[in-house]
Amino acid sequence: VNILAIETSCDESSAAIVADGREIKSNIISSQIDVHKKFGGVVPEIASRKHLEAISLVVQEALDEAGTAFKDLDAVAVTYGPGLVGALLVGLSYAKAAAFALNKPLIGVHHLEGHIHAGFLEHPDLAFPLVALVVSGGHTSLVYLPRRGEYVLLGQTRDDAAGEAFDKVARHLGLGYPGGPQIQKAALQGNKDHLDFPKAWLEEGSLDFSFSGLKSSVLSYLNRCKMKGEAYHVPDIAAGLQEAIVEVLSEKAVRAAKLKQCSTILLAGGVAANLRLREVLKARAEQEGIHVVWPSPLLCTDNGAMIGCAAYYKYMQGDFAPLTLNAVPNLSLFMQKN
Ligand code: ATP
Ligand code: MG
Ligand code: FE
Repeated sequence: VNILAIETSCDESSAAIVADGREIKSNIISSQIDVHKKFGGVVPEIASRKHLEAISLVVQEALDEAGTAFKDLDAVAVTYGPGLVGALLVGLSYAKAAAFALNKPLIGVHHLEGHIHAGFLEHPDLAFPLVALVVSGGHTSLVYLPRRGEYVLLGQTRDDAAGEAFDKVARHLGLGYPGGPQIQKAALQGNKDHLDFPKAWLEEGSLDFSFSGLKSSVLSYLNRCKMKGEAYHVPDIAAGLQEAIVEVLSEKAVRAAKLKQCSTILLAGGVAANLRLREVLKARAEQEGIHVVWPSPLLCTDNGAMIGCAAYYKYMQGDFAPLTLNAVPNLSLFMQKN
């Protein structure tokens, strides 16, 4: 089964050809990071325009690199939410037109279902049930997967996402956008114990997260130093911030896996690329006999291949979308919360 998968929910225009949900024949990612860098974040109007310029090119490149012709495709898959509406619409319009012209099924994929499936690309035999920690620029969620295609929300951030906290602090430290990789790099030169930033554990037993207090605390420390004319050490701030985020994420992910009696934690989303998070979560999970799986760095951030993998399982179920499918900026993955 050859699927053309398209992802344009934020600032990456990506197209991939994925066979049988596991073989990545191509995964072309055209990032707009350089365009948005000077604004310190993604500018939605610019993102839509850039997707429009890129979409036909990335699809053609994906087909060429895979050595696949349009006629060899079995389905066209696309992210239809959540994300920036104008950005989503570019990929969605392209996918609908392609599916119609080729007379092949259209498959609509939830962006987070895609992030979770990045793990299945490289580990197709991962056994259920499992707990996924989805940490990205817009989401921080603990998800229980009793079986394939079923998602139960265990906890999520009440304010900022973990990636957002990295990005915002990095911007104030002058480290550039996106901030996560910069913070990770700066932290290598710092001491994680020099500055003790607050960790929000919330009410006893809660699997929710909160990172806005941490962010404010780091920023007010920074402002205090600046006002008093005192020197501050960027690597120590980066290391302290990273440690506070990583510790809470790791602890709650392990708690969730124990609660649901899962022996596997699947790490997903852009922040899953963070090496300190991988290290701490793995060590913490191993103490409880829990196994941690993560995608390779390129598959952690937005890409078409993860969408193609999620779409394969929908294809096998005959879970197709009508050509009237619309973009849903706040699309939810969950039926229930428990
Ligand atoms: P969402 O998936 O929630 O819609 P998004 O698609 O914008 O948001 P992703 O592409 O999944 O987000 O991830 C981007 C985020 O990952 C950014 O916040 C970025 O700073 C963060 N990130 C990327 N690499 C690292 C890293 N090595 N350490 C920490 N954070 C990282
Ligand atoms: Mg991005
Ligand atoms: Fe994403």
